[in-house]
Amino acid sequence: MIKTKETLLAQVDRCSKCGACREVCPVFLAKGSEPYVARAKVQLAGAWLDGNLSPSRRLQELMGYCLLCKTCTHHCPNGVQVDRLVLAARAEAGPARRSLVRLAATGILPHPRRMWVAHGVFRLTQGTLTRLRPALQGLPQVPRKPFTQHYPAVLPVARPRRRVGYFLGCMIQYFWHRVGDAAIHVLREHDGEVVLLPGCCGMPAAAQGAAGIARQQAEMVVRQAEQARVEAVVTTCASCGLALAGYGDELSTPAARAFSQRVRDISAFLMETGLNRDLGVVETVVTYHDPCHLRRGQGVWQQPREILRCIPGVDLREMEQPDRCCGGSGTFAFSHPEVAAAIGGLKAEMAARTGAAVVATGCPSCQLQLAGVLDRAGQAVRVAHTVEILSQAYAARLTP
Ligand code: SF4
Ligand code: SF4
Repeated sequence: MIKTKETLLAQVDRCSKCGACREVCPVFLAKGSEPYVARAKVQLAGAWLDGNLSPSRRLQELMGYCLLCKTCTHHCPNGVQVDRLVLAARAEAGPARRSLVRLAATGILPHPRRMWVAHGVFRLTQGTLTRLRPALQGLPQVPRKPFTQHYPAVLPVARPRRRVGYFLGCMIQYFWHRVGDAAIHVLREHDGEVVLLPGCCGMPAAAQGAAGIARQQAEMVVRQAEQARVEAVVTTCASCGLALAGYGDELSTPAARAFSQRVRDISAFLMETGLNRDLGVVETVVTYHDPCHLRRGQGVWQQPREILRCIPGVDLREMEQPDRCCGGSGTFAFSHPEVAAAIGGLKAEMAARTGAAVVATGCPSCQLQLAGVLDRAGQAVRVAHTVEILSQAYAARLTP
């Protein structure tokens, strides 16, 4: 996060109001009016910081209309970090209103006991909640227990080559166990002794403007990884990975900087350490969706494609604009369901046009959004994390 008023205003000053962000901002393209584009957010944040605008409900609402997708920053000729400005503005101005989404992000996710209770309630009411909130449609059947109750804290292998921390994040711990199972299988195929690291990365709280809570989460995660004495911390969630990689800057401590240097998305980790290419056949057509926080946030986009191309039988077909945001963006799909559905609908069309049977991606939040929008578009296309397909290929090797 950009921390001081001076650095925030320096970002605002860099904006030449050229309007290049109008061509690419998914929220602007969905809403079609100037207050929703990156340029407007920059100017509003600037006027507010200069004291020319008081933090009104409308200002808070407009700052909420951002996916934090970094598309504007990526295309901005002046490198204005709009998403960081928006996060800083949210932290200063506070929420537009109290909402269930904010309560979950700041009052439940960071607290394992409360999350455990909420998880139980959610599991029992999943059908009703999904009818009320279509953004939940893509979620698998919620498992009975958290992921860590299915495995020992440390998973040994016969000939360990490295000790790897697997940061689960809330999505794997409570919802997407099949991704976690696949990640563990894949890491053990690479002779990794896996240490499970549960916890919340703090991104949901930061996105809701609760920077203090996000910082507390970061401190806890760094301490936990230090105690686990792991060489690398891998994630299967693009947003967790981006948050973890930013702890060094955010906390500015030697421990946090050392921690952030060890963070890797699982696809990058596998390619860096040498992918085990002893793979079975997975006969299918796949298209790959780039999570914003993986491609623009961490520069990881070639590695998952390289992994998929290595799998015998996989026919990888690129969709139009594979790096276009899917509209999920963590809590955004819940706080702004109509805009998220419009953005996701376009993505579903682009994916379906490839004729793929599977959309692969690298973030459970994108998986949730993609599965929902594809289903609503009537497309019988499966959505899977890249490691799920890789795990399938290792399992297929053993099948006669
Ligand atoms: S592209 Fe960058 S410089 Fe141009 S209006 Fe948008 S934020 Fe400002
Ligand atoms: S981060 Fe994404 S949604 Fe937010 S202003 Fe930039 S392009 Fe638009």
